Amino acid sequence: MTDNADRLLEVRGLKKYFKVGKNKILKAVDDVSFSIRQGETLGVVGESGCGKTTCGRTCLGIYPKTDGQVLYRGEDVHAMDKKSRQSFTKQAQIIFQDPYASLDPKMKVQEIIAEGIRAHGMAKNEAEIRERVEGLLATVGLDPAYGSRYVHEFSGGQRQRIGIARALAVEPAFIVCDEPISALDVSIQAQIVNLLERLQRERGLTYMFIAHDLSMVRHISDRVMVMYLGKIMEITTADQLYDSPRHPYTQALLSAIPIPDPRVEAAKVRIRMDGEIPSPIDPPRGCRFQNRCPYAEQRCREQEPGLREVGDEHFVACHL
Ligand code: SF4
Repeated sequence: MTDNADRLLEVRGLKKYFKVGKNKILKAVDDVSFSIRQGETLGVVGESGCGKTTCGRTCLGIYPKTDGQVLYRGEDVHAMDKKSRQSFTKQAQIIFQDPYASLDPKMKVQEIIAEGIRAHGMAKNEAEIRERVEGLLATVGLDPAYGSRYVHEFSGGQRQRIGIARALAVEPAFIVCDEPISALDVSIQAQIVNLLERLQRERGLTYMFIAHDLSMVRHISDRVMVMYLGKIMEITTADQLYDSPRHPYTQALLSAIPIPDPRVEAAKVRIRMDGEIPSPIDPPRGCRFQNRCPYAEQRCREQEPGLREVGDEHFVACHL
């Protein structure tokens, strides 16, 4: 899907299954292939339980894979030796949805941000660590003096800025942003997205930006991948996805985004998704979206559609 030379991350047939109870298997990520170019943002979108967070964490090696391959700069993330692994954990970072849960409340902000700098031996002495932390706080739009405070003293948006500073501390090249704005007020969401975009421009970062709906993703993404029940339904450039979505699930997600103009909103054709999301423990045979798809036909219940190219850089998993 992208030229070999500029691929930072390449995912081939990745599967991540979890054992649930005695004999049941939850197929959180089920045979997905995609790549991310150096310096781009790939938005990953889908409802809760679609496998997007598991996909991001398996790409970082936080979860062991069940099958397939994740290559970072051509090296298998799940088969790295200790030295490569250490280098990878410095280059590939994560920003979490809930910064309050991911930042230790007993530690001062200074220490939280300094952890990675210490672990990777990136400063000669304490004075240099302090200087770096203060610089990082300023970079994410916080007062450098805030280093002496605790996490509970900050608002949600400020905490997310601390989470971003912590990720930046080790000078990464690739960041998985795991729903970094979902828990924030709408007014703060745009500020965090703008901050991430500025950092990307200044530092040449590559992002996998995970979100549960499509409303904020267009702004930050070069390409968008839509997931449903562990599978990729559609992947293409952000412009093509929003202007000419081809998969019925993408169309339904887009039609659910409210439009600020009441007349346009009232005239909008809404594509309804009836039915519940099936369990990933026992997904339906054939197309996984069949029980909610308004266009489902007999072959959708019998054959699983593969991801196929329908246009330039546009791939869709649908029989129609
Ligand atoms: Fe709908 Fe069939 Fe396409 Fe699945 S393959 S999205 S059920 S039309």
